Amino acid sequence: MNETELKIKILGDPSLRNKAKKVEHVTDEQRRTLSQMARLMYASSGIGLAAPQVGIKESMIVVDVGTGLYKLINPKILKKEGHQVVEEGCLSVPGVYIKIKRAKKVLLEAWDENFRTLRIEAQDLLACVLQHEIDHLQGKLIVDYVPLLQKLTLLKKLKNLKGKKEDEKLSESERKSVKL
Ligand code: ZN
Repeated sequence: MNETELKIKILGDPSLRNKAKKVEHVTDEQRRTLSQMARLMYASSGIGLAAPQVGIKESMIVVDVGTGLYKLINPKILKKEGHQVVEEGCLSVPGVYIKIKRAKKVLLEAWDENFRTLRIEAQDLLACVLQHEIDHLQGKLIVDYVPLLQKLTLLKKLKNLKGKKEDEKLSESERKSVKL
């Protein structure tokens, strides 16, 4: 990894489909990447970001739903409970929001940037974001939850969005949705 600032990869970029590799050793490189990812997430008004979204094939995510920043390495869901449906957006799929059914509560295990094992019990929005980001580590995107026909309409919409200004992309209701 070089010193250049990270950039968010957009749908169509093959790196979004890569499966992230387990991090074996946490070094300054990982710590630097996690800090850069957090900065980029905040600058993009997102509440979660996964390493594959910036072209890095390592199992790392950052999440902040307003209750504090998590920098997580090798996150793994141990337990899921209940259901919730949240309209999700994704920084890698701009302008698109999809209702996705996920677990309402999760129990997650990960390393922090100091190589300590963390267990996080999350529910509601935090649980949703963690599941969304872990999907990214598997190369899975929100568009994969949409049936084929609906997906074609979505892709058309995405195509039409190109060239428009950021403000014109989103309706008022869409702006209230979460970007992960
Ligand atoms: Zn995403």
